[in-house]
Amino acid sequence: SITDTDFVELLERAKASPANPKADPVRFDGQVAIVTGAGGGLGRAYALLLGKLGASVVVNDLGAPMAGQGSDSRAADLVVNEIVKAGGKAVANYDSVEEGEKVVETALKAFGRVDILVNNAGILRDKSFVRMSDADWDLVQSVHLRGTYKVIKAAWPHLNKQKYGRIVNTASAVGLYGNFGQTNYSAAKAGIVGLSKTLAVEGARKNIKVNVIAPNAGTRMTATIMPPEMVEAFKPEYVAPLVAFLSSSASEETGGVFEVGSGWVAQVRWQRTGGAAFPANRTLTPEQVRSKWSQAIDFEDGRATHPTTPGDSLNDFMANFDNGGD
Ligand code: NAD
Repeated sequence: SITDTDFVELLERAKASPANPKADPVRFDGQVAIVTGAGGGLGRAYALLLGKLGASVVVNDLGAPMAGQGSDSRAADLVVNEIVKAGGKAVANYDSVEEGEKVVETALKAFGRVDILVNNAGILRDKSFVRMSDADWDLVQSVHLRGTYKVIKAAWPHLNKQKYGRIVNTASAVGLYGNFGQTNYSAAKAGIVGLSKTLAVEGARKNIKVNVIAPNAGTRMTATIMPPEMVEAFKPEYVAPLVAFLSSSASEETGGVFEVGSGWVAQVRWQRTGGAAFPANRTLTPEQVRSKWSQAIDFEDGRATHPTTPGDSLNDFMANFDNGGD
């Protein structure tokens, strides 16, 4: 039987629509969010918004310079002060995300739980591949990919146990498409996409949703490459609402990759051609592959698909087992 309060709630939900988003406001009261690298740039905007919407926030920031070595606790402290001044709840954590267990420990000590992880901390060590040193490679992998892994690894048992969690990880268009001078960074960012897609599968039964964003924002990271008017147009505040939505119980989205910036949000997915089929009888030669090359790479012949699981991926292989040739 439906009580009056249930009925009112159902009515409110029914009224919530794109035209009327206020009917069911996205809130985080009673929830605890960890935002890494939240002392500046994008992370600061996420922490301020989550704090404003009722979350208790762990503002993690090593206070590192952009190339990643050194630290300064002021960055995190300033953002904590901003949240608290606005009437919110926040504590600082100054550990590197490479020590994820300490970051999560801060949340547990201060607020007793953790619900939301926004893995955002990052550095750049751009060099052409010819000039890239092992140190440039290793440090970027360690902060982005290992740091993301370590924070999630420490929080995961808690999310699992409470059967609720929202994780937003940070990739980059560079990790999706590649860019000169960023082999270390693009490899780490693409790694974060793979990590997130698999965690989305592993978290499904426990209501742990894991998504990835590839943001564009005017921050110190992009100030050297974006003209000033672009830095102005690409405000971190335009990215934060997507992060808040994906971090909320209002979103059931998982395993997604989203490009976001300047007030624009879009999803990215894989597309695969219909492919070229050859007899499955070990006679395949390089020349045969060449002969059907234009078909193998044709996205426009109406046969292209969007596989989303390894099972989807395998279907066309299986279907070719019986291909005896024409
Ligand atoms: P930013 O340099 O302004 O902020 C990054 C923050 O991470 C800094 O405050 C820094 O102190 C902190 N940090 C660095 N290493 C850390 C560590 N080991 N532990 C904890 N904190 C650490 O940069 P941003 O532009 O705000 O970038 C945020 C994230 O978004 C990064 O992951 C970045 O790669 C990604 N990103 C940004 C853009 C963009 O257009 N700005 C584009 C693609 C991806």
